[in-house]
Amino acid sequence: MKSSFQEKKKRIDRLEREHCLTLEDYAFLLRERDEESTAYLRERADAVRRAVFGPEVYLRGLIEFTNVCRNDCLYCGLRRSNGKIERYRLSEEEILSCCSTGYALGYRTFVLQGGEDPSFSPERIAALVRAIKEQFPEAAVTLSVGEHPYETYALWKRAGADRYFLRHETANEAHYRLLHPEEMSLAHRKQCLYDLKVLGYQVGCGFMVGSPGQTEEALAEDLLFLTELEPEMVGIGPFLPQHDTPFREEPKGSAEETLFLLGMIRLLLPEALLPATTALGTLHPEGRELGLRFGANVLMPNLSPRETREKYAIYDNKICTGDEAAECRECLARRVEGAGYFIAEGRGDHRRFLKEEAKAP
Ligand code: SAH
Repeated sequence: MKSSFQEKKKRIDRLEREHCLTLEDYAFLLRERDEESTAYLRERADAVRRAVFGPEVYLRGLIEFTNVCRNDCLYCGLRRSNGKIERYRLSEEEILSCCSTGYALGYRTFVLQGGEDPSFSPERIAALVRAIKEQFPEAAVTLSVGEHPYETYALWKRAGADRYFLRHETANEAHYRLLHPEEMSLAHRKQCLYDLKVLGYQVGCGFMVGSPGQTEEALAEDLLFLTELEPEMVGIGPFLPQHDTPFREEPKGSAEETLFLLGMIRLLLPEALLPATTALGTLHPEGRELGLRFGANVLMPNLSPRETREKYAIYDNKICTGDEAAECRECLARRVEGAGYFIAEGRGDHRRFLKEEAKAP
């Protein structure tokens, strides 16, 4: 029998008040999720988001600059064992040209994301960061290129990188094993996140919702890990099968569960930057708008050249692969305003990282 709404409300209220619940309470809320508790959580998450950020939504221009990867994560279409995918790499000029296009459209954050491609050496990525920062000094640069040694992260920080996005994928050891090859480890992934924190990056972690073998307890561990790490950003999206991976037959994650988790994370980390992801928009036609209504406040539209978008095939049926950057920008503004929010100008830093002079009246 389902438990009463009061039982759920009590926990949601405590999460809003104390920003933390026990593993059992998180798992309880996820397991007993229903229409009534979802509606209540949405209301609270939106109230908190509006109290902290107002109706503002921050944009990050995503540049998927290489789909070559030395890793073999079982869920990801870029995995090295995938012999079917057509590999590509953007040149430095192409990447800078994506930034120019984005800059003209008002983007002030560029996210360079890719597989762990050895041909982009630490020094080559550092030079790229320097070039972007030189040409667009007001823009923030986020790197999302996987696991690297402390020294490499330090080099990129010195080159001017502001943020780093590395999803932990799952905080449950056994579940991590199920999703990754032998040579990868949760401990190492977490160490990377702590290294990035120490180096002064604004750090984003995150996980997939509904990945094979995931339980409510594993998700509860993800939430506990957020309290431990205190990331500036949390990227979550539904798992979506990719046809050339071992998980091709696995069921998709649920949009409802993803939205519920977004709401929980907004209460857990009121000041966090929370993207409504492309994966959520792929799963549900209004996924990103719904995400905003459940506490998300960031969108990461694609700035990659149209010709390469389909090749960055981490999962199937990715949306917006046929759009030009300018079309995406207009479409998003309509969607954001239609949902009752508006697109903010500027870099959208986490408030812990706002410069002192910017804070002064
Ligand atoms: N190589 C980088 C970038 C990975 S792609 C890194 O390791 O961080 C960005 C994110 O896409 C991943 O962190 C993963 O959470 C997500 N992703 C990969 N395959 C996916 C799939 N099949 N469904 C949904 N999300 C997926």
